[in-house]
Amino acid sequence: MRDWLRSEPIVIASGKGAVLRDTKGKEYLDANASIWTNLHGHAHPRINTAMQKQLNKIAHSSALGLANEPASYLAERLVNAANTSKRGKGKHFAKVFYSDDGSTALEVALKLAYEYTRRTGRSKKPKFLSLQGAYHGDTVGAVSVGHIDLFHKAYSGMLFQADKVMAPYCYRCPFNKAKPERADARSYRKCNWECVGKVEQTFAKQKKKGNPYAGFVFEPLMQGAAGMVPQPSGWLKKVTDIAKGQGALLIADEVMTGFGRTGISCRVHRDAIIKAQNRPVSKTLFACQRPEVEPDFLCLAKGLTGGYLPMAATLTTQSVFDTFLGEYHEYKTFFHGHSYTGNQLGAAAGLASLDLLEGKQSLHQRAVLQQAMHESLKELWSSPYVGDVRQVGLVAGIELVKDWRTRKPFDLSEQAGMRVCKAMAKRGVLTRPIGSVIALMPPYCTTAKQMKQMVMVLREAIEETFSNSKAP
Ligand code: PMP
Repeated sequence: MRDWLRSEPIVIASGKGAVLRDTKGKEYLDANASIWTNLHGHAHPRINTAMQKQLNKIAHSSALGLANEPASYLAERLVNAANTSKRGKGKHFAKVFYSDDGSTALEVALKLAYEYTRRTGRSKKPKFLSLQGAYHGDTVGAVSVGHIDLFHKAYSGMLFQADKVMAPYCYRCPFNKAKPERADARSYRKCNWECVGKVEQTFAKQKKKGNPYAGFVFEPLMQGAAGMVPQPSGWLKKVTDIAKGQGALLIADEVMTGFGRTGISCRVHRDAIIKAQNRPVSKTLFACQRPEVEPDFLCLAKGLTGGYLPMAATLTTQSVFDTFLGEYHEYKTFFHGHSYTGNQLGAAAGLASLDLLEGKQSLHQRAVLQQAMHESLKELWSSPYVGDVRQVGLVAGIELVKDWRTRKPFDLSEQAGMRVCKAMAKRGVLTRPIGSVIALMPPYCTTAKQMKQMVMVLREAIEETFSNSKAP
């Protein structure tokens, strides 16, 4: 906070497309899509018009005991979009519960899963399992299933107890003991799925205790706040099959990964990228759909309104819904509801955003941007301070290290990521670090040229920041 008070803040006044402008007229590229929310660019004419139209009718009326049109239509569209899978049954998700942000989308899923488990007699004391390094929001329930000590440890006394299990982090995998010596040795080594084994063991251990896990909470394909850590192809299917086999409900947090963020093809990693232009483009919007994982709860926020307004949705199945169905005197209802639930203005933005996402232009933009990101990121490998460059679709994480050969991390107190981001801001590119990982996930309207610019600026910023250190 002292750092914040000491420095002059950048005060944003307006935005257009991928560009933000401050009160002094300086322009910046929005390289993290305003903390991972913005999809199509700022001041998008289609979303602006949809919201203006809605504004002329009504901005908000309560959804407690009342319905409204835009939120109802949006719910139908979300269910349809989430049900599109190769198997094409189209019946998995049936219901949508609205709330305000990513954290509350998780709270809703956790509470529903908890009570569903109790009411169906599976457990009197439902317990949850989540991933090492997990971040699911800042409210107390979401923090309980989070495992980042820096954010969460101070509150341990007020949290419910949830277990954690090893998550893949191939770059720093404890089972990958061999030291990289050459530049091409930066790639991950083959393994025996030890991390999947850990999940299997953890589930088995809990079952032995006589109270199998009620729910398994995870981010699919990539963990965001853990440091933009991708899961190796096949991991998600394997672990969710284990969880399902043990009777656990699957709670997928797609707050970051949802709405096309994980791209137009599943495996986008280093040179293994599938060339966007030459391949049929996947139209699925959610990370779980690619490996055909059907969670019991799908938590959405951030990009739901195209990054315009706070709004969240927790999608679930008919079977969960029915557990809360009863006559008045049975008091089975799900007693949870926020004042702004089902907000019309947010829903109007959400509908316009889905129109855009499902249109050909957006698919094309995303394919081009994904490829441009991959091409530009290659530039970074030659920096001695770049340990790993990770890309899944339209998300990238660049891990800074003291020495790429040893993978020696910077100490948090050195603020390596923060310093690099400050140097980037000076050069007109805005993003935020996750420790020593620089996140790049621009709006989909970002051009190949702008993408290149972001990476070039990042490279210069790394050079400037560490120019006084002895080159490793
Ligand atoms: N889940 C994930 C995966 C997130 O990345 C975030 C926010 N970064 C959240 C939940 C919480 O969302 P919000 O900040 O909207 O509460």
